[in-house]
Amino acid sequence: MKNIKLSSAFFDQAEIDAVARVLKSQVVNMEIETKLFEEELESFFKRIDSKVTCVHSCSAAIQLSVQALGISQGDEVLVPTFTFVSTFQAIKANGATPIPCDIDLEDGFINLDDAKPRVTSKSRAIIPVLFAGCSSKIDKVYQFAKDHNLSVIEDAAHSFGDENIAKRDGILCFSFDPIKNISCGDGGCVLTSQNEITEKLKDMRLLGVIGDTEKRFNGLRSWDSDVKEQGWRLHMNNISAAIGRAQLVKFPKIRELRQRNAGSYTNALNEIRDIQLLPINFKTAVPHIFPVLIKNGKRNQLKNFLAEKGIETGVQYKPNHLLTYFNLGYDLPNSMNFYSEILSLPIHPLLSEEDIEYVIENIKLFFNN
Ligand SMILES: *Cc1c(COP(=O)(O)O)cnc(C)c1O
Repeated sequence: MKNIKLSSAFFDQAEIDAVARVLKSQVVNMEIETKLFEEELESFFKRIDSKVTCVHSCSAAIQLSVQALGISQGDEVLVPTFTFVSTFQAIKANGATPIPCDIDLEDGFINLDDAKPRVTSKSRAIIPVLFAGCSSKIDKVYQFAKDHNLSVIEDAAHSFGDENIAKRDGILCFSFDPIKNISCGDGGCVLTSQNEITEKLKDMRLLGVIGDTEKRFNGLRSWDSDVKEQGWRLHMNNISAAIGRAQLVKFPKIRELRQRNAGSYTNALNEIRDIQLLPINFKTAVPHIFPVLIKNGKRNQLKNFLAEKGIETGVQYKPNHLLTYFNLGYDLPNSMNFYSEILSLPIHPLLSEEDIEYVIENIKLFFNN
């Protein structure tokens, strides 16, 4: 029987060679590889005024960005409930309160009409999540933030490689975890043109030791430095950065394969009445996940049917306001509806056209019976 995994890394000899190169150099802490990876990402993002800070994960990227904005105990951050738990924990890690907002039914994007009455005198920031790469309404979030005097941190964990990234500003957080569009094993980065944020992030990722990033990039140690605020050990080491550099070289191939798989699904599933596709432009977006909405209460049946055919699917995500740690008795009906219908199909770059065809055939088989 076929065994089609929902997600996978995309490593080969290039990443093996990269790791071997670092190990042979005996320098595995954060040094030259991380410096080069940051520079290469800066050119990749094509944002002349912006800087990249590499950290241990996207969770760390969001957590440190919240801290760099000075958000702490007593402050509130607006966030769609429909996201990976990471976004919520990153806010909580700063002692601030995540305020769960509802989403739009067609794309899972934060619903600003729902968010508006949740703004209070304690609101400091809004964290839109670019769910499945959907970014068409992001400009409205920036306008909303301006109107209410909020900072914007984008959870762009699903959006690495999206060409529209080049066109906007704010604080953007990306993930290079094991199954994202590129992987460092674990890793993430912050992209921003706000230099005072970058300066803070560079110290905060290294236990708050002032100027440590520059010293390490020059192969030096910080024997006599000061610390003035809370920092964490959340930097990216040379091994992770070397893996990321190899992935970045391969990214055109990754983009092509992920967009091809998304295109095949879109063409085939469009015709099925009980399936609603998300309005994502795959000419610019590079899909990390491929969620579809399964109507008329058929989601779980389809999920089980596909599992019997050796096809793994996912339910991304359980709304965070349902989790014990965050539960404040909110009523967010669109998110509940989305949660009952959403199903992620396998889309990773190791899948062949035949694999995708096999998934499509089985979905059609299910709906024809
Ligand atoms: C993966 C993911 C994160 C966290 O990324 P890590 O690098 O695993 O910490 C955050 N938000 C969303 C939406 C994600 O999918």
